[in-house]
Amino acid sequence: MQTQVAIIGAGPSGLLLGQLLHKAGIETLILERQTPEYVLGRIRAGVLEQGMVDLLREAGVNERMDREGLVHDGFEIAFDGRKERIDLKGLTGGKTVMIYGQTEVTRDLMEARKACGAPSVYEAHNVQLHELKGEKPYVTFEKNGETVRVDCDYVAGCDGYHGISRQSIPADVIKVFERVYPFGWLGILADTPPVNEELIYANHDRGFALCSMRSKTRTRYYVQVSSDEKVEDWSDDRFWEELKCRLPAETADQLITGPSIEKSIAPLRSFVVEPMQYGHLFLVGDAAHIVPPTGAKGLNLAASDVSTLYRILVKVYRKGRTELLQKYSEVCLRRVWKAERFSWWMTSMLHRFPDTDDFGRRIQQTELDYFVGSEAGRTTIAENYVGLPYEPIE
Ligand SMILES: Cc1cc2nc3c(=O)[nH]c(=O)nc-3n(C[C@H](O)[C@H](O)[C@H](O)COP(=O)(O)OP(=O)(O)OC[C@H]3O[C@@H](n4cnc5c(N)ncnc54)[C@H](O)[C@@H]3O)c2cc1C
Repeated sequence: MQTQVAIIGAGPSGLLLGQLLHKAGIETLILERQTPEYVLGRIRAGVLEQGMVDLLREAGVNERMDREGLVHDGFEIAFDGRKERIDLKGLTGGKTVMIYGQTEVTRDLMEARKACGAPSVYEAHNVQLHELKGEKPYVTFEKNGETVRVDCDYVAGCDGYHGISRQSIPADVIKVFERVYPFGWLGILADTPPVNEELIYANHDRGFALCSMRSKTRTRYYVQVSSDEKVEDWSDDRFWEELKCRLPAETADQLITGPSIEKSIAPLRSFVVEPMQYGHLFLVGDAAHIVPPTGAKGLNLAASDVSTLYRILVKVYRKGRTELLQKYSEVCLRRVWKAERFSWWMTSMLHRFPDTDDFGRRIQQTELDYFVGSEAGRTTIAENYVGLPYEPIE
């Protein structure tokens, strides 16, 4: 088989890159090790920055998002018995975020790819990348017991944190930066109306909580739990009780509970590799970096990497600008590190750390009080939350 860009992974990064390149007349082949149903079964992100919304529109997969997505102009932070609003729209000159689940983004992208006839191979096993530093890179995979070879110009490693792409780079040419947090998020998905029109991030003595949503009838709530917690130990009733404890009383009183349709624990981690490229391989999204979900940045960072690689490849194929390829990693990393910083900071400010003493707790409350009490502080939160601008590729 032959293609111009071999894309490893059919998560949001791989599918969005594939759609944009297809629209630009560049051939792609997507290799995904799971089935489409498995990929769609993963409940993950739900807050899209303006930049990602614009990119989905550019890819032509915005019809359902624009119809069903909820535009949010702000969110609330609850702490110390108070609830303070961050007016995203007012503080950023009109920018907002869109509430639309990652599952829905992925479904729309899968359908668009099917409709345009661009090729994807699901259940592609044992994907291997070859000759990445040479002039003729290629990829092999196994399907129905046969090994298939795909010759290509470039490989986009969109295969997430556990994928093969990053592991195909020799360990001595990449540097890993990592922080693992001593807690995770226990999340519940339920068909209940949201307790509030906007998201509520809560800092409480018992730990962090988040009231989020996927639509006007489907909610996603989280509570911070310790890293060794087991999901089996959390009945729905126990979850709802714990969530109520961590919310301001008037919010807890309004909370409508119901049976969970999904419940899982996600560990929290900050992770970056540098550089994000090796020869003809470009790492995109979670393959290169992970953020704790507190700033709603994981999926959005994947989208900004996609935008950078897409714009570079279009200039390479249309104008022969191959020198731009060398810039991919440095352009991405400038934005990646700013989102890493924001996600780490929001995590530090909103969670209960097991080793925090009384002094540390007062400092945390004072930091929250200072940032939400000052217009400069609220603006800092707002401009990072709606997403920093994408760097143009000149
Ligand atoms: C539990 C959880 C909750 C999250 N919640 C949030 C949130 O609330 N907000 C937020 O912004 N972000 C969140 N994230 C992060 C967000 O979901 C990711 O940043 C996003 O999925 C990144 O997209 P991706 O396409 O780069 O990677 P992925 O979505 O991981 O997709 C990678 C794809 O590659 C495939 N693959 C892996 N290995 C191979 C291989 N060897 N060969 C072929 N295919 C392979 C995988 O099956 C997968 O389909 C969450 C992540 C997790 C895990």
